[in-house]
Amino acid sequence: RAPKQRLPDWLKTDIPDGENYSRIKRNLRDLKLHTVCEEAKCPNISDCWGGGEHQTATATIMLMGDECTRGCRFCSVKTSKAPKPLDIHEPENTAEAISRWGLDYVVLTSVDRDDLADGGSAHFAETISKLKYKAPKILVECLTGDFQGDMECVARVATSGLDVYAHNIETVEALSPYVRDPRAKFRQSIAVLAHAKKVMPTLLTKTSMMLGCGETEAEVIHAMDELRKADVDVLTLGQYMRPTKKHMKVHDYIKPEVFEKYQKLAEERGFKYVASGPLVRSSYKAGEFYISNILK
Ligand code: SF4
Ligand code: SF4
Repeated sequence: RAPKQRLPDWLKTDIPDGENYSRIKRNLRDLKLHTVCEEAKCPNISDCWGGGEHQTATATIMLMGDECTRGCRFCSVKTSKAPKPLDIHEPENTAEAISRWGLDYVVLTSVDRDDLADGGSAHFAETISKLKYKAPKILVECLTGDFQGDMECVARVATSGLDVYAHNIETVEALSPYVRDPRAKFRQSIAVLAHAKKVMPTLLTKTSMMLGCGETEAEVIHAMDELRKADVDVLTLGQYMRPTKKHMKVHDYIKPEVFEKYQKLAEERGFKYVASGPLVRSSYKAGEFYISNILK
């Protein structure tokens, strides 16, 4: 029997059960929003939702249901060939709820909806434009799928009034067919990010990668170079964590000093902002990063 993989100390975090977290959770009940923060039991929730005088309150909201038409090997979201139809009231209700919550920065994300002719891009864009109308000061980031490379869909979301367009490449090119659903392709993802910037040059574009899937340093550097060729502004790098035993194994736990090295290598390549560390998640304190570093 293979020895049990032990979690290195630098990945151990406290379970979110503080007073602040419970208060926010109570407040959230009436808003009827589905947050990734809660559903993924994200360890950063007290930090992100806390807000306060010197902090930026950030949350990640899920749109278009909880069943995905894809099945990436690292992801714990349910897969379905025929997810439930879209709730046509979701854009209005979500925009209203977020505007009442008092967040400074919100990430809107969704499952992939390959079953819909436009991949859900009109639904996404409508939510963003309604939210920006109701609460112009909230900074909005979308984290979308690749819309199967349909650039009209990418442009629809990119021009809907948002501030940051995020789409994750997840891993290096060589491992992409193994780690991601085969319909998600490295080149297609780079093209999505390049197109969002092309149709809306004032947008920040952003991507994230998980490390510890067996990638080499040269492959990580190659991915950084391809992203910069597509003028991607923001890169986050974090450790892959296996959600359950049914999911892809962790190949290795990358040491904090290696993450620091990647941070430097990425900064040298001209990204406007880089977050690289074992516990870094795509949206962790996203608002604080942008407000203090870029969107001043
Ligand atoms: Fe998970 Fe996104 Fe892959 Fe769907 S497309 S399985 S939500 S990572
Ligand atoms: Fe939510 Fe992302 Fe912060 Fe986790 S890191 S609490 S998912 S906003």
